[in-house]
Amino acid sequence: MPHHTPLIGTIVVGLVVAFVMGAIAHRLKISPVAGYLLAGILVGPFTPGFVADSSLANELAEIGVILLMFGVGLHFSLRDLLSVKNIAVPGALVQIAVATLLGLGLAQWLGWSLITGIVFGLALSVASTVVLLRAMQSRDLIDTQRGRIAVGWLIVEDLVMVIALVLLPPLAEMLNGSGAGSGQQGTEILVTFGVTILKVGAFIALMLVVGRKAIPQLLHWAAHTGSRELFRLSVLATALGVAFGAAMVFHVSFALGAFFAGMILGETPLSRRATEETLPLRDAFAVLFFVSVGMLFNPAVLVEQPLPLLATVLIIVLGKSIAAFAIVRMFGHSSSTALTISASLAQIGEFSFILAGLGGDLGILPSEARDLILAGAIISIFINPFLFTLFVKDVPETTVPVADDSAVQAAAAEALRQSHTVVVGYGRVGKLVAEKAAQSGHAFTIIEQERDRTLEARAANFDAITGNATTQKTLTDARLQDATTLIIAIPEGFEAGAIAERARTLNPAIRIYARAHSDDEVAHLAAIGVDRIVLGEQEIADRLIEWLREK
Ligand code: AMP
Repeated sequence: MPHHTPLIGTIVVGLVVAFVMGAIAHRLKISPVAGYLLAGILVGPFTPGFVADSSLANELAEIGVILLMFGVGLHFSLRDLLSVKNIAVPGALVQIAVATLLGLGLAQWLGWSLITGIVFGLALSVASTVVLLRAMQSRDLIDTQRGRIAVGWLIVEDLVMVIALVLLPPLAEMLNGSGAGSGQQGTEILVTFGVTILKVGAFIALMLVVGRKAIPQLLHWAAHTGSRELFRLSVLATALGVAFGAAMVFHVSFALGAFFAGMILGETPLSRRATEETLPLRDAFAVLFFVSVGMLFNPAVLVEQPLPLLATVLIIVLGKSIAAFAIVRMFGHSSSTALTISASLAQIGEFSFILAGLGGDLGILPSEARDLILAGAIISIFINPFLFTLFVKDVPETTVPVADDSAVQAAAAEALRQSHTVVVGYGRVGKLVAEKAAQSGHAFTIIEQERDRTLEARAANFDAITGNATTQKTLTDARLQDATTLIIAIPEGFEAGAIAERARTLNPAIRIYARAHSDDEVAHLAAIGVDRIVLGEQEIADRLIEWLREK
């Protein structure tokens, strides 16, 4: 190599190894997350061979956190957030308290001081945004009631951590210092607490008052320039800029800043395009997050502290889950909701690393505690997808995105006849297909991944569900087993191929029609056994030539 390029090395090797391991995991039918974590261990400092720069990897992972939270914000309205506050606020607080107490208990057993125990316990109490959102997204749960509760819960945890991070230094000084418990230090902590709350409040107020006007205007302007590049840039600049500004000026976390930026943008019709623009980057950086976690794992901890590690993992996976389950049930929610929330929170991640790092810098967290936190994180993230498979059952009615739609959904489901058509995508093509199909009296169900569009379809009196048609669950929710025809009206030919394959396994006799935009896509779809394929460009060209001939 001609010169030292740690950033390029970290990104490239991180992504390449993650791809290889992710692909192997996919072949073995386990969650790709396990593959990404393993990739991190491979490029980390504790295994031979190439060693990526872990601090750079951590920073890159933060970009993944920002884009993920921005994406979630885009789907969230202030109303959604407020609708879950009654359960999310007490739920998160009680769960943090329980996990912290359990961590403190373990710390006492290991002979650590009170403040060490508190920091250790706090680090075990907060779930990782990336892990939770990825798990929810992979099952199309974000737009459900369960998903909203989990996201609301996450935001409360996030706020608590913001406060904990600023309070920790003065608290450590008070508990460690000579004048422990002195009134002066107590006041100092109260002042710091008050200032933090004010800053968070100021940020939220600024976003709701100024951001709400300025951000959509900026994006509208960018959209109207007609330049795709400028629009893409405006979305990225907003997501990253607001998150970074929020962290620098208001000391709010990146994640929270990005969430609010997304939420404000989500109220505008541009939100769908904004989501599309950030998706590829978001996925790439979220993968780097898992690689960066894997890099921190020191396998030595397995032999040096097996029992404390087991206890740590049990607190994260069992202790927190039981607490969450009990709270959610206490609020009258179903067991399936409670199990989903518990499973999604039974892991720790980025905040725990930040807390562990700060604790180390302040001299209140010994290296054994940090090793336990890191190992606990990687083990809990590793087993999280399995917990999801075990405990999170698909409950079809929860795919209904808003409560008041349930009547429409039920009526529409009733209307489903034994033989019906499933239409995937309610975009430019899907919408026309639906209109024509309805005119000719066909019974059909639309699958659309964007909630706004599903609502649009329902407003037109069509039966529509929100979900990604590549997943089996969404296809069965649309009763694909009973359908005679599947029309895949999405522009991505290869994704259409994935949908067709899944559909065939569920219903071998179904007729499949799909859209393609290149010869490669046509060949791919034909090889899979799609019955009819229309090449958009070909049809347009044929029509144009027809007119030329008519003249
Ligand atoms: P258009 O390109 O305007 O025809 O829009 C395609 C529509 O299909 C958009 O509304 C997408 O949200 C939707 N879509 C694309 N992929 C999927 C998928 N895998 N599952 C469900 N809907 C999809």
